[in-house]
Amino acid sequence: MRFRAAGGLKVWVMLTPFTELRTAWESSVWPRGGTSRVLLGARTNSQFWGGIKRQFNSATITQAALQIDLVKCLVDNYAYLLHDTASGTTGIVDPSAAGPVVKALKEKGLSLDYILNTHHHWDHTGGNADLKKQYNAKVVGPRADQERIPGIDIALRDGETWMFGEQLMRVLDTPGHTRGHVSFYFERSKSLFTGDTLFSIGCGRLFEGSPEQMWISLSKLTALPDDTLVYCGHEYTMSNAKFALTVEPQNIALQSRAQQVKELRDKDQPTIPTTLREEKEFNPFLRPFSAELRKSLNVAAAASDIDAFAAVRAAKDRA
Ligand SMILES: [Zn+2]
Repeated sequence: MRFRAAGGLKVWVMLTPFTELRTAWESSVWPRGGTSRVLLGARTNSQFWGGIKRQFNSATITQAALQIDLVKCLVDNYAYLLHDTASGTTGIVDPSAAGPVVKALKEKGLSLDYILNTHHHWDHTGGNADLKKQYNAKVVGPRADQERIPGIDIALRDGETWMFGEQLMRVLDTPGHTRGHVSFYFERSKSLFTGDTLFSIGCGRLFEGSPEQMWISLSKLTALPDDTLVYCGHEYTMSNAKFALTVEPQNIALQSRAQQVKELRDKDQPTIPTTLREEKEFNPFLRPFSAELRKSLNVAAAASDIDAFAAVRAAKDRA
């Protein structure tokens, strides 16, 4: 990701402490041989990526002993069932409703320890009360928005780490869609749960935040390793691809992704997970510097990335 112009400075200011935190954590957890452990994770990801990436419906994805299963909810919501095999800890990210989650847990013979909410919207928290009652699960969510997260027990701050069994999870405040939105990053498995902040080929609508806030949030996410797997809150990829092709019709990576998405959706297969590396190539909301995109949206070459990002968001809202 490139940062330019006046607004870019703010992004750097916010990113620098986070990068330092990450480095500090890596050296504290893995005082020796930390780098090789991280590299090992990267190799695992690339093996996985070439193999079972697009068979998510039928396969449980195991990343460094964190199993991740997609649970379809409502019309186009995705909740994610997490299971740390070492400790037996089980969680669900953004349960829209209890029913599909209970079914998935029964199929696997699992109970539920935690409910993780990225933000307060009902289609991400609708299952909280029933699941909490049925399994005595604890609700984990953003401290910045704790009064709006139903049944919250554990409120986490930006940059704070928390152990999900033996998996270290970092909380990143990513406001813009809502003022208290967070993303959850599992460092060892390089898995990122972005709720309604980052979608494949898209980003969330700005219900409670400014374009600048959202751009800073997205920039925080794209500062994570390129092979990070992105698990978002909705299957919006098809309509996102259609819009993206109107602003960057010549983008070959986008053309290829659009074709792949069509084939997957024709078979009712999910287009998730995606990776940060791929999203940087074809997600227009991460590409405000693109000359073609700026030309399509009449954004001056000298305009800031935030202004160009705002133009992309406004155009998508009108589409
Ligand atoms: Zn939402």
